[in-house]
Amino acid sequence: ESKKLGRNAFQFHTKDIRDQVLRKLQLEEALRKALDEQQFVLYYQPKVNLNTGEIYGMEALIRWQHPEMGIVSPLEFIPLAEETGLIMDIGAWVIEEACWQMKQWSGRFPWLRSMAINLSVKQFQQKDFCRQIEGVIREQNIASCKIDFEITESMIMGDVEAAIRMLAQLRALGVSISIDDFGTGYSSLSYLKHLPTDALKIDRAFINDLVNDKNDQAITKSIIALANNLNLNVIAEGIEDAEQAAMLTAMGCRYAQGYYFSRPLPAAEMALLLEKQDNGVV
Ligand code: C2E
Ligand code: MG
Ligand code: MG
Ligand code: MG
Repeated sequence: ESKKLGRNAFQFHTKDIRDQVLRKLQLEEALRKALDEQQFVLYYQPKVNLNTGEIYGMEALIRWQHPEMGIVSPLEFIPLAEETGLIMDIGAWVIEEACWQMKQWSGRFPWLRSMAINLSVKQFQQKDFCRQIEGVIREQNIASCKIDFEITESMIMGDVEAAIRMLAQLRALGVSISIDDFGTGYSSLSYLKHLPTDALKIDRAFINDLVNDKNDQAITKSIIALANNLNLNVIAEGIEDAEQAAMLTAMGCRYAQGYYFSRPLPAAEMALLLEKQDNGVV
């Protein structure tokens, strides 16, 4: 049976691979075009103070508005962008756009504290990354303390020494650093005390079932304690209901983000929220 099908199976297999390669090439081409034709947009998800419910900042999250496919999630195209190197240009665009937006908003709403920008490992490994950031800050004339970069543990683990140097240089510019998806990396905790960083973001994996799962509660409490002991801020991501918010507040977590407070929003809708808060409506 397998002998009889052998040749066909092989042909099927190669066709499969060819289709995959083709699809990837098409996607890559489409990504390139997306940059030229400005199909990328940033959405913004509020970060709130758990005790008061007030928005103090936001995270920029990229979306691809494809003319036929509609809105494409970064989970789908960021990996390809990283593989092809397009992430450098896309990432540079994200930084410029987010900084420009923060400049506008912090002028109107001086109480806004920070705009968070996600970084990809490739950007982070660029030798002149710091100079790039310095350039954007200077050109846009934005207060560097209002910019926060989110990096993940895995980005640090490759070359810890180099990562520490890079983070120290970045912080010397006045920007802050948060460790995204904290708790899901396979890193040892010992590097944390040497890491130039300002905040830990508790991964949503621990928040999801927080109210029922004793293990998630233990881990979340430990991360909050760790952050307190290391003098780092702590923010929980992925809060979807009032029970989770209440439990995190009781655990002493000060900051949060999640659908319960707001989904990521287009800039105009985010601006409406900020205006409301500025007028004391919320
Ligand atoms: P992330 O930085 O950990 O962002 C959090 C993700 O969780 C976002 O997905 C957000 O929409 C989603 N989220 C927020 N609150 C909730 C909630 O309550 N429940 C659930 N189920 N999800 C929630 P998104 O926007 O699809 O982004 C996915 C990932 O893509 C991000 O994870 C980040 O790693 C990456 N990403 C997004 N924008 C950029 C970017 O500009 N540059 C780079 N390099 N990566 C980006
Ligand atoms: Mg993030
Ligand atoms: Mg995250
Ligand atoms: Mg995450």
